[in-house]
Amino acid sequence: EELLRDADIAMYRAKWDGKNRYVVFETGMQDAVQNRMELEMDLREALENDEFFLAYQPTIDLSDMSPTGVEALIRWKHPVRGVVQPDDFIPLLEDTGLITAVGKWVLEEACSQGAAWRQAGYPIGMAVNVSGRQLDTDQLIADIEGALSQSGLDPGALTIEITETTLMRNVEETARRLAAVKQLGVRIAIDDFGTGYSSFAHIQRFQVDALKIDRSFVTGLTHNEEGETLIHTLVQLGKALSIETFAEGIERQQELSLLRHENCDSGQGFLFARPLDAAATETFLRDWADNAIAVR
Ligand code: C2E
Ligand code: MG
Ligand code: MG
Repeated sequence: EELLRDADIAMYRAKWDGKNRYVVFETGMQDAVQNRMELEMDLREALENDEFFLAYQPTIDLSDMSPTGVEALIRWKHPVRGVVQPDDFIPLLEDTGLITAVGKWVLEEACSQGAAWRQAGYPIGMAVNVSGRQLDTDQLIADIEGALSQSGLDPGALTIEITETTLMRNVEETARRLAAVKQLGVRIAIDDFGTGYSSFAHIQRFQVDALKIDRSFVTGLTHNEEGETLIHTLVQLGKALSIETFAEGIERQQELSLLRHENCDSGQGFLFARPLDAAATETFLRDWADNAIAVR
């Protein structure tokens, strides 16, 4: 019985690590597997129990330092563990297929919040992350359409973020679905850009509106010349294709200065604001005029 149980654990592990591989059982695996099974069980009830919420991280126009919008980032308020970060549960949502329902909820919640803020007089955009699993069916198009009509959000104020790696998974189908999303008037951004080796041809084919340059190119940007050269090249690539360039993870004033010097269009990062709850986001938007002077 023990042997079979251990073999089972190794099998789960192999599946979770991306399938199509061998894994040899080690005693340490048991806790990790147990932990993950528990999380998975709790996740199945999280949506129903209203345990998800969205944090919003402001995005900034680097030319004049005004806020352009926010990115919605999901959080899970686990009844025992406290707040769980997306990196610790999005993969589970994807593996279990729960991401479809949760992704729909995110779209609805983000669009209705975005519409409310715009109605309150903040002319901001709302960016929503979409996972690869959601792009596997046409459901995504219906979900986006539904969230827009339900909330009354201007489609042009919504940006869908898709990671570069996801885009390259199933090029034909993805291109077709993204074209349908664009038909709705929604913007498309490539998230974590620079980490996924996409070709120029694909970027053009997907009619992308923005390249969100991955944080790894921005962090420590000013410490070596190669970093500066890479950022220069990535920003120029965006310019050559007439696509908005956007820097993720700006933490230091020097990084900001360099990005502004390179004419990178927009940015996001702890230097401006961490992901905030809805009330704090509103305060941020209201008080920005004062903050902008401090940042500049
Ligand atoms: P992402 O879309 O690239 O989001 C940016 C992540 O970088 C966020 O982490 C944000 O908190 C973090 N970040 C922003 N500025 C800085 C900075 O200056 N320094 C550092 N060190 N980090 C910064 P978070 O919220 O933990 O989200 C992680 C990832 O989870 C996201 O990466 C996104 O891929 C995914 N995710 C979040 N919400 C959703 C969602 O609703 N649906 C899906 N499918 N994925 C989501
Ligand atoms: Mg994102
Ligand atoms: Mg990113």
